Amino acid sequence: MITKDELEHYLYDADEEQLEALYSEAREKTIKVYGKNIYIRGLIEFTNYCKNDCLYCGIRRSNSSLKRYRLEQSDIIDCANEGYELGYRTFVLQGGEDLSFSDQDICDIVYNIKSLHNDVAVTLSIGEKEKTTYKAYFDAGADRYLLRHETADEEHYAKLHPEEMSLTNRKRCLYDLRDIGFQVGCGFMVGSPYQNPDTLYQDLCFIDELKPHMVGIGPFISHKDTPFKDEANGTLKSTRILIALLRLMNPRLLIPATTSLATIAPNGRELGILSGANVVMPNLSPVRFRELYALYDGKVCMGEEAAQCINCIRERISDIGYEVIVDRGDYKA
Ligand code: SAH
Repeated sequence: MITKDELEHYLYDADEEQLEALYSEAREKTIKVYGKNIYIRGLIEFTNYCKNDCLYCGIRRSNSSLKRYRLEQSDIIDCANEGYELGYRTFVLQGGEDLSFSDQDICDIVYNIKSLHNDVAVTLSIGEKEKTTYKAYFDAGADRYLLRHETADEEHYAKLHPEEMSLTNRKRCLYDLRDIGFQVGCGFMVGSPYQNPDTLYQDLCFIDELKPHMVGIGPFISHKDTPFKDEANGTLKSTRILIALLRLMNPRLLIPATTSLATIAPNGRELGILSGANVVMPNLSPVRFRELYALYDGKVCMGEEAAQCINCIRERISDIGYEVIVDRGDYKA
């Protein structure tokens, strides 16, 4: 585990050369476990209805200017089928916490995707549920679950979320998911309002304790219809540093170079990979709905059809000497 001094050193004092050395060490560690392979996850954003009111998020329930949508089960299956043809072997079903999808609906969707394609992994990213619900998803065939913890500091958590949400419950969910047998991903936004080196260090300590299989981090980006509309965005530099430090903490971790990183820097995805990330999550959602899944302003890759999108990403990744592969991309234990 790194120390808080080391974290602060990289965030504030390290010069270009020291940062390059950090990124290069992180790359080497990744290559030792995963080679120069980059795993792709097809992201299906199937609903932007949400019962929660997270202060940073553009699809929070009090954003009344947002047009809401939800995909039909058949649309979701179509996205997965199209993704399969394009070489995806993992589908991530992500959405707001939309109660009009019952537990059974989610189980049916997972079961149907897995029945159509027996060599894929299905990841869910649909928020906080009871353990029995998570177990039902798992029994229906779901393999992985992404639930960013958002911040491991109680006070910070309370500044980012409405009163009815709690860090205790968020952590409970993550431990339940791990107990059940999911490959679990937690994570946080870099540069979220009120974040500081202490809260960031707590994030790293929590990750060290939970021992997740995946950690998703990307810069916070303000959204015009949220209370944080005037807050500064997270930076490329601090995101790269944190990706690299996570990689040093666990060389086996699956770490995405996120769309938010690509949004704040034109070659953000590539620079994420060059700091130790080994996953990308291109969008498979129907283009007509993409604009509506607006967690933050300025999101990139909104207009491209799935095929166009993966070809562009494949090429860009090959340009930096890595290769997108056709594989479930499980955690290498
Ligand atoms: N409802 C699901 C999915 C949330 S969206 C859940 O609760 O897990 C996925 C992630 O997007 C969130 O966990 C959050 O970390 C990130 N996100 C939300 N708003 C954001 C913003 N303004 N900038 C950057 N990332 C954001």
